[in-house]
Amino acid sequence: MTDAAQTHPTRIFSGIQPSGNLTLGNYLGALKRFVEKQNEGIESIYCMVDMHAISVWQDPADLRHATRELAAGFIASGIDPEKSVLFNQSQVSAHAELSWIFNCVARMGWMQRMTQFKDKAGKNAQNASLGLFAYPALMAADILIYHATHVPVGDDQKQHLELTRDIAAKFNHDYGVDFFPMTEPVIEGAATRVMSLRDGSKKMSKSDPSDMSRINMTDSADDIAKKIRKAKSDADALPSEIAGFEDRPEARNLVNIYAGLADMTVDQVLADHGGSQFGTFKPALAELAVAKLSPISSEMSRLMQDTAEIDKILGRGAERAEAIARPILEKTYEIVGFVRSR
Ligand code: ATP
Ligand code: MG
Repeated sequence: MTDAAQTHPTRIFSGIQPSGNLTLGNYLGALKRFVEKQNEGIESIYCMVDMHAISVWQDPADLRHATRELAAGFIASGIDPEKSVLFNQSQVSAHAELSWIFNCVARMGWMQRMTQFKDKAGKNAQNASLGLFAYPALMAADILIYHATHVPVGDDQKQHLELTRDIAAKFNHDYGVDFFPMTEPVIEGAATRVMSLRDGSKKMSKSDPSDMSRINMTDSADDIAKKIRKAKSDADALPSEIAGFEDRPEARNLVNIYAGLADMTVDQVLADHGGSQFGTFKPALAELAVAKLSPISSEMSRLMQDTAEIDKILGRGAERAEAIARPILEKTYEIVGFVRSR
């Protein structure tokens, strides 16, 4: 990990929205990385970003369930709530408070360039929520309220991380301080952008209306095998070198997924499977996916039998998060010039 944010001690923050079922994309692009960072001994703060989730409509009962299930997903994947700070965003109000300050720092022009807003708002941007537009300012607040120096994310969040740096730099410049760190994105592994199984040009997302487009962490072995069997591919054999993926995004995606799950490089996978037809490669991929995901999904369902325990873990995590965030918020308010007299 590079350390451009040298004046601040290394601290990791990242979040996932409880906006649906955890997907294989979330696992390979985010969760698996989170566990690695935690196990390297780096101070890590992981958040279920429920306030981000409601930037598009969420049924309240579904949101509550998804938040707890996401917490179960973190723990089942290897996040230890004693080692890492694990909580849901809405329980630490400093995120929302700092996001207002950042709404006043970020420029309209910056926000209008964000591709996630364009993708999610689609053709009817006038009808999107203001929260969806302001999403990246809240995300900057999530990160900077902890002075986090590194943020492990999937490739799709790179632009939001750049915006976070722009916000930190403008705040520091406008107020003449060196207060917020220049946070570094950490985008690692063979599968930093897992694509939809139905369309190799679209990111796999938990909010995609098509369940066949993604593998959910809670899918049964049969469902995983079926989804991989039906995944879009092509009629050619796998190439033996990466160059052979040109104009074959679906083939590339399936090999990336294999590499991500097996902790191999794409070159290594092609050394083993180059020349194979999809009729042979897909069952091998399905077997690997089931072997890696089913222990996590059974642990998730075990944890979900005791949601009171999950809530307790999130409450404790929120207290620990609050203890870090509050002094940074108070200092921010002082810098901005707010009178604090109680
Ligand atoms: P939504 O569709 O609601 O936006 P999502 O699947 O994109 O859900 P997020 O909660 O927005 O999930 O993102 C959580 C983390 O997972 C982020 O770090 C993001 O970069 C990563 N991520 C999301 N989708 C993918 C993907 N297809 N491949 C790799 N990483 C991903
Ligand atoms: Mg997303």
